[in-house]
Amino acid sequence: MKKEDLRKLLSLESSIDITNVEIKKEGGKNNKYVYVKSNKKKARCLKCGNFSNKLHDYLKPVKIVYLKNSGENTYLIASKRRFKCKVCKKTFTEDLGLNGGKCNISYKTKQMILKECLDRNETLEDIARDCNVSTDTVRRIFLEAMKNYPEYVDTLPEVISFDETSTYTCAGTYSFILNDPIHRITLDILSSRKKDFLISYFSKVKNRKSVKVVICDLYQPYYEVVKICFPNAIFVADPFHYTRYVLEGLDNVRIRLQKEYEENKKSYEYRMLKNRVNSKLILKAFDYTKGELKKKKEQEERYKQGKARKKPFDKFNDYWYGVMKIKRNDAFIEVFRIDRLQEILNIDDDLSKAYNLKEEFLRITTYVKYKDAKSELKKWIKACEESEIPEMIEASKTIRNWLKEIVYSFKDERYSNGFTEANNNTITKIVDIAYGYKNFQFFRLRTLAVLHKSYSGGSRKNIENGKNKIWCFFEKIDKKGEQKRKKFSNH
Ligand SMILES: [Zn+2]
Repeated sequence: MKKEDLRKLLSLESSIDITNVEIKKEGGKNNKYVYVKSNKKKARCLKCGNFSNKLHDYLKPVKIVYLKNSGENTYLIASKRRFKCKVCKKTFTEDLGLNGGKCNISYKTKQMILKECLDRNETLEDIARDCNVSTDTVRRIFLEAMKNYPEYVDTLPEVISFDETSTYTCAGTYSFILNDPIHRITLDILSSRKKDFLISYFSKVKNRKSVKVVICDLYQPYYEVVKICFPNAIFVADPFHYTRYVLEGLDNVRIRLQKEYEENKKSYEYRMLKNRVNSKLILKAFDYTKGELKKKKEQEERYKQGKARKKPFDKFNDYWYGVMKIKRNDAFIEVFRIDRLQEILNIDDDLSKAYNLKEEFLRITTYVKYKDAKSELKKWIKACEESEIPEMIEASKTIRNWLKEIVYSFKDERYSNGFTEANNNTITKIVDIAYGYKNFQFFRLRTLAVLHKSYSGGSRKNIENGKNKIWCFFEKIDKKGEQKRKKFSNH
């Protein structure tokens, strides 16, 4: 076999010669040892940068952890020479470009570790096993790459949004997430959503006064944080969250009715109301919601241009007139979803009334423009009060109390935390896979790296200099934002 081929197989540079390959059986496993040396006659002085060919001596070969080869642990046994510099008269060791200084882990392995750290499905243990290192090494290399990552965001965009997600870390069960909804980026993850904590965090922000819009849940402490920290910002209710209050109202009606029929658990009504599939059916929007509508338009556009093979999903023909299997008299029968929905709603007047109120609310949030939002919502609140359904009255109270903030969300369709749903799933998944995190800071850095799909150490130099892409990414935000703004200016 040609040396060249062997080099290609091991992804080694052309300046490296392979002198021998040994396979040793160690601990019941086959380990590969590849003996390498430089084929250059001279080396560059590390101090002054001049080339020297004056050989000083040979060093004892060093063992370097390399990428696995055919699933077997592979080590490089590197023989290095020492040269004497003709200019500065110092002796120095040649650099084979395999590992850095005294580190016995190859650059290739480091890159692999960092790459795998961006995969949300990999735990540190998985990565350690894949790369033939310890979990502590994985942790150390990742933290090294992220060491320049800012501890807090000191400049914020004009529009920001708050969100929270349940995460089991040492810091508690909830994490606070700071987003940039316009560029659809997660800016930071904080360990607490408490008022005092947030105020002290935001007090470090340099441009607090230039923040114009803050989107978040209708949560009194957030409201106070915004008033104190961002004096020039408007507090905008997040559509994703306030819609949930209305959906909860409808679900509470169903739960109340279910309890009324509880005495006879075998009754048709009780079983219908308790069924999980049914409860999802009534909560699902009958028409398209705002996010779905946008997605559908995009898909249609792609299909027209021939970029997508599949025809976009049609809610009415594919979903409501699609069949679902249900069990009746010990046999499965198929029914249209729309018929099933009608069946459930026929059980009680309150349920069908509440359902219609929910649909009306979704219609308003999807189709009504900013200028009509206030009057339409007021009409809806009045309809809720007239319905005399306590759960819907309760929901409408929340909407009425925060009417101004909710109306603000109609100003711009991007004023929403909707995009973070996928991010929140990712965050939850990272925590679940690792069975929780003991160290919040590590969890924060890992999650941000996964969400930004960015890590340092694309090149050897970057690892050494501790420069990382995420750091630069903050500088790029403005450029990227400008492009997106242009895209949206047609609206
Ligand atoms: Zn020198």
